[in-house]
Amino acid sequence: NVRVRFAPSPTGPLHIGGVRTALFNYLFAKKHGGDFVLRIEDTDQTRYVEGAEQYIIDSLNWCGIPFDEGPKKNEKFGPYRQSERKDLYKQYAEQLIESGNAYYAFDTSEQLDFHRKDHEAKGKTFIYNWHNREKGRLVNSLVLTQDETQAKIDTGEDYVIRFKMLDLKTENEDAVVLCEDKIRGAGIFRKNILDDKIIFKSDGMPTYHLANIVDDHLMKITHVIRGEEWFPSLPLHFELYKALGWEAPEFAHLPLILKPTGKGKLSKRDGDKLGFPVFPLQWEDPKTHDISRGYKEDGYFSESVVNFLAFLGWNPGTEQEIFSLDELIEGFDLNRVNKAGARFDPDKIKWFNHHYMQKQSNIEIAKAFKEQYDALNDIDVNYIELVVGLVKERATFISDLWDLSYYFFKAPKSYDEKASKKALKEGTKEILNTLKDIISNIDDFTTETLQTEIKGWITSNEIGFGKVMMPLRLALVGALQGPDVFDIMFMIGKPETVKRINAVID
Ligand code: GLU
Repeated sequence: NVRVRFAPSPTGPLHIGGVRTALFNYLFAKKHGGDFVLRIEDTDQTRYVEGAEQYIIDSLNWCGIPFDEGPKKNEKFGPYRQSERKDLYKQYAEQLIESGNAYYAFDTSEQLDFHRKDHEAKGKTFIYNWHNREKGRLVNSLVLTQDETQAKIDTGEDYVIRFKMLDLKTENEDAVVLCEDKIRGAGIFRKNILDDKIIFKSDGMPTYHLANIVDDHLMKITHVIRGEEWFPSLPLHFELYKALGWEAPEFAHLPLILKPTGKGKLSKRDGDKLGFPVFPLQWEDPKTHDISRGYKEDGYFSESVVNFLAFLGWNPGTEQEIFSLDELIEGFDLNRVNKAGARFDPDKIKWFNHHYMQKQSNIEIAKAFKEQYDALNDIDVNYIELVVGLVKERATFISDLWDLSYYFFKAPKSYDEKASKKALKEGTKEILNTLKDIISNIDDFTTETLQTEIKGWITSNEIGFGKVMMPLRLALVGALQGPDVFDIMFMIGKPETVKRINAVID
């Protein structure tokens, strides 16, 4: 049974890259009839941000990719917040000490700083590992006696527990860790340049590495799908599984998301600078975060965001670009995820949004449109629905609709200057006067009748279409744009049409 997890740290707004990770996990789980787990990795209490967890949950729900198990939902392997699992981790850290795979270290941050600077001065980089940990300069249980170590712990001295990456007692300097990754293939890491990572702290909290491995094991996670930034941690994670005597899950590291230029990693600043959101939902707490816009607030449909994100690293191997969530589940395959970085193209997500705008029902769009504009308060939603049907082809966002359709709701206040020059020529007034009479006499005021009568009159009098249609359109719209004029007249009705023509004549 496939089980995957999305394991965000609630340290702030959810980056679009995080949503992509969640989506790929979800697609993989659903494709294989498995479970999608949400685990909140909040061991670093100093970076905890109030409300972030709810924000993550809201984002997943908005995208339509809810988790099967997680905080307050189907908690069979719960709790799902690491801060609530605190008591669980210590035994594993101790087990690793007993088996000789980990050790206590008492070095203060001042001491570590000193070593760093000392190394730097000699043109070297300080790494806490086999190279120097047993030489007596560092203070840990590998150099202290058991009694000395115990005494330090008993007197409450701060300590950390470090994982022994390379142990010269059992292996040699050339030892490597072989890491299989379903996207990146096999990676070979030389142990002698890896450091002895901290896995547990004296505040009783595990670090990310230990907690992550313990939880993935206890929650029976079968596949770890996460961002490429975690790939360098993979050898440590493999070694931790081995040392704990557990079978490691399969790993897949998703490619980086690159700036629109294709160079460098995408960041929030790129979005701010180029004017597109990098977050899916609005961040609620402006006191600590200045992010006030997200994809949802900018008028993107969740279908567009999901379809767009699916293509950040994955492709179906065909020309098809439009995928519903069900089609994505059907087509998703980790073997079709690239290892090369995926370029973030803000125009592409607009393209998707334009597509999904056309797919929404006119009445749904009309309701949302009405809600956004006070000017539409008193207008019947069924009328707005018809308007939407006439103009939405040109809209990417619901917020585009007003500029495309205001003249269906009120007469133009002014006329576009260029358009007026083009449309209003000598003789225009006379033409409009006659046209007004014709229109006034039409009783069956439908698009078809209007079209037949007016076109018939133009043809039989050889007036020229432009000479009639341009000023007519200017009168109705205030500019030379918009859908079919006959539709516009039908929509606004006879009295309003006549009024608008009169306004140009006067
Ligand atoms: N808590 C980590 C993060 O915020 C999870 C990494 C992982 O999936 O292992 O990205």
